[in-house]
Amino acid sequence: MTQTYDAIVIGAGVMGASIAFHLAERGLKTAILERKVTASGATGHSSGLVRMHYDLAAESELTFKSYQLYFSHWKERVGGECGFQRTGFLQIAKREHEGNLRGNFANQQRIGINTSVISAAEVRKLFPDLVTEHFDYAAYEPDSGYADATLTTNSFIESAKRNGAALIQNCEVTAIRTAGGKVVGVGTAKGDFGAPIIVNAAGAWAKHVARLAGIEVPLVTWTHDVAFLHRPPSLGRIPACIDDVINCYFRPEGSALILAAGEDESLRGESPDAEDQTPTPTFLEKLIDQMVRRIPKIEESGLHSIHVGRDGITPDQRAIYGGTDLGGFYLACGLSGTGFKTSPAAGASLVELILDGKPKTVDITPFRFSRFKEGKLLEGEFGYGNIWK
Ligand SMILES: Cc1cc2nc3c(=O)[nH]c(=O)nc-3n(C[C@H](O)[C@H](O)[C@H](O)COP(=O)(O)OP(=O)(O)OC[C@H]3O[C@@H](n4cnc5c(N)ncnc54)[C@H](O)[C@@H]3O)c2cc1C
Repeated sequence: MTQTYDAIVIGAGVMGASIAFHLAERGLKTAILERKVTASGATGHSSGLVRMHYDLAAESELTFKSYQLYFSHWKERVGGECGFQRTGFLQIAKREHEGNLRGNFANQQRIGINTSVISAAEVRKLFPDLVTEHFDYAAYEPDSGYADATLTTNSFIESAKRNGAALIQNCEVTAIRTAGGKVVGVGTAKGDFGAPIIVNAAGAWAKHVARLAGIEVPLVTWTHDVAFLHRPPSLGRIPACIDDVINCYFRPEGSALILAAGEDESLRGESPDAEDQTPTPTFLEKLIDQMVRRIPKIEESGLHSIHVGRDGITPDQRAIYGGTDLGGFYLACGLSGTGFKTSPAAGASLVELILDGKPKTVDITPFRFSRFKEGKLLEGEFGYGNIWK
């Protein structure tokens, strides 16, 4: 027998969870179908950075609204915990990007983001353990930091459940049923589920899921290695940081660890089902060499652990949010290794688009699926080049 819902969300990562939260809040009887368990995909491996500096204003708006309306007062808005830690965030720019840094800063100020451009000397005053020889300016956001992607996901889902949503785990969607150019439901190993609204939030698997509906989405699997290092006892305060000079990002992880990863050497095109946790052979050596240039005290730290995560990445390394030519079938995928921090506002905006015909929280039109057909790939207004080299 077919179980009937108002909406089905495929995938219980942070994106699916956010969408289900917003659908259920609007009173829709919502089912979240997950082939494994919640946060078992990219979300469970996310570094969780919450920063607002992007070279594309639409992405800065998504993170700003996510911070302002959700992460900064999670308990009141969603309930439960998201683990947000305000550490401050630094975007260190290459010298040749100073003009772009200032352009992005101006865009972000216009949006309302608490940010400033500070000199290398000012960075040193704030964070004395950072070497500041290889750059002149950085953007600094005192409000930013990091959160826990699994907690965030579970809080969204628990709240959705309080509003009547059903989470069905170990339930892989294997067919998408259509009639008259519209979706009518899905087939799974646990039976058929009917709904006139279906959202594909299947992360690196979204390409495969879209194919079940006869739709070709341009995304491939992106594989990313992340290290946790023991925090050297003598190390002072460090912020969350994206450092385009050394091609790394890092942040504190609680009081005992540092999370660090590179912006290059991420593999493309693995199977999304690959579960191998072996990093690229040069990953750790290269990471430490680079990190020591910025934080010499890293020499005193030891390796705690490494993990490997996989997300879907699109040709312009920006997410896809919006409808398709198939009535009732929506995409929220291709989050390209940066989609945790934007997931609250992106979920809200997509649900507004679905139910009201127009997004209100943030205009997500730039992220529409048809941009690929139109040849309108997204580019930063003051671009730094692709974040993932
Ligand atoms: C190592 C790593 C570090 C990252 N660091 C950051 C960061 O610091 N900041 C940031 O903002 N972003 C970061 N990201 C990106 C961010 O974590 C992801 O963009 C986000 O978590 C993706 O969420 P999602 O829900 O779209 O996908 P996923 O979390 O991958 O969830 C998709 C879900 O769909 C399920 N699924 C797949 N196929 C089916 C099917 N047929 N039927 C039912 N269910 C199905 C999967 O099992 C999975 O649980 C990082 C990503 C990685 C991998």
